[in-house]
Amino acid sequence: MSKADDKMQKLVSLCKRRGFIYPACEIYGGFANAWSFAPYGVELRNNVKRLWWKKFVQEREDIVGIDGPILLHSKLWEASGHTSGFNDSMVDCKKCKHRFRADHVVEDATGKDLEGQNEEMTKVLREEKIPCPNCGECDWTEARSFNMMFKTEMNGIEGPVYLRPETAGAIFVDFKNVVDSMRVKVPFGIAQIGKAFRNEIVAGNFIFRIREFEQMEIEYFIHPKTKWEPLFEEWLDKQEEYALALGADKKNLRRYEHAKEKLSHYSQKTIDIEYKFSFGFKELFGLAHRGDFDLTQHAKASGQKLEYFDTVKNERYVPHVLEPTFGVDRSLLVALDAAYTEEKVNDGVRIVMKFPVSIAPIKIAFFPLLKNKPELVARAKELYQKFNSQYNCEFDDNGNIGKRYRRQDEIGTPFCATVDFESLENQDVTVRDRDTMKQERIAIKDLDDYLAKKL
Ligand code: ATP
Repeated sequence: MSKADDKMQKLVSLCKRRGFIYPACEIYGGFANAWSFAPYGVELRNNVKRLWWKKFVQEREDIVGIDGPILLHSKLWEASGHTSGFNDSMVDCKKCKHRFRADHVVEDATGKDLEGQNEEMTKVLREEKIPCPNCGECDWTEARSFNMMFKTEMNGIEGPVYLRPETAGAIFVDFKNVVDSMRVKVPFGIAQIGKAFRNEIVAGNFIFRIREFEQMEIEYFIHPKTKWEPLFEEWLDKQEEYALALGADKKNLRRYEHAKEKLSHYSQKTIDIEYKFSFGFKELFGLAHRGDFDLTQHAKASGQKLEYFDTVKNERYVPHVLEPTFGVDRSLLVALDAAYTEEKVNDGVRIVMKFPVSIAPIKIAFFPLLKNKPELVARAKELYQKFNSQYNCEFDDNGNIGKRYRRQDEIGTPFCATVDFESLENQDVTVRDRDTMKQERIAIKDLDDYLAKKL
């Protein structure tokens, strides 16, 4: 097993053992590389989303949020080009019947990026005798396109209805309503967090590539004549700042600019922010300049004017748009990957999840030193109840204190407060710091201030 697989397996196993993420439908043998978010995973996920909303919506005067539906009018996906063009290329090994993303097999074997060029990929696979990554044989079907949108049906609607493959569409169709109902002035953004669905040919790498995932997206509308390059840079910086706030190390982030000739005709520039996962540098977030493509397309298809009227300059125009896009699940994977730490301690190896305090699922755990001493239990419970309304706290009296610390280390709880006999006499607790493992006695009357400062 490579070191990378090793780290990933350790993460997957910790996530299950400690209640972050479970394999979906495990009692039925699992299902389609899907995952279920467990109690601590949900807390972490909510914190990751809250951090984003705070940074990009709440703290900004120029961005408003919406929450659109997952099932949207099929005309939207025709106008955006998804019905005809939201395809990946697949290829099958005729020997072992495994299915792959054709562009991934070609790129991994040759370094060539032939995405979207089915004939060319088929030729390379066969002529360069690229072996099947599963069985090692070289007997490929032709590479062919596969539309990744999930189809369903809806009562009262003729024809197929799609589960949205990205959240952005719901933003564009609400552009006019937002302009009419809110006091937004260009430049302004509309943000959204929500589920998206893609029938990925191959899912995998834990929660990196899944078929039901969540996105956090912003459409940032600007005047067509705005000098957009500095704004574009600013957005990249903001996206990186957010990755750092998840705990990412700066050296594990890099920017990848899409080649001009590979960009869609309407896009002036697209840059991915990549993170060095244990399986290599991969896309974490993206930023694209999409011009006026979306608003123009939806205006044409709907027959509605999707414009902005500047009352001061008496000018009417279709804004251009910058689109910063973020994946919730990939953000979570970064938070988990960056937090995972193994440390040598006296009695072996300590595993500790060093989450930034702001996203840690539990902020403080309260313990009585001993389970069978009612006065210790009562005081620890009392403190737990007092602080739990303010921070997400936990009470634990199971097993010995060392084991309880280890459990909280793996959950990533920044502080543990223990009530012992001395505490009852002195009206204090011992607070242990997750990262330094140092303990200090804090008077109960000062605990409020102490935690407010630390958390
Ligand atoms: P990739 O090249 O990895 O397939 P993409 O370029 O298709 O990604 P976008 O269409 O730019 O991705 O989607 C925006 C964001 O949504 C991505 O940066 C990523 O964080 C997230 N995302 C996309 N597809 C998935 C998926 N299958 N599982 C989890 N997150 C995803």
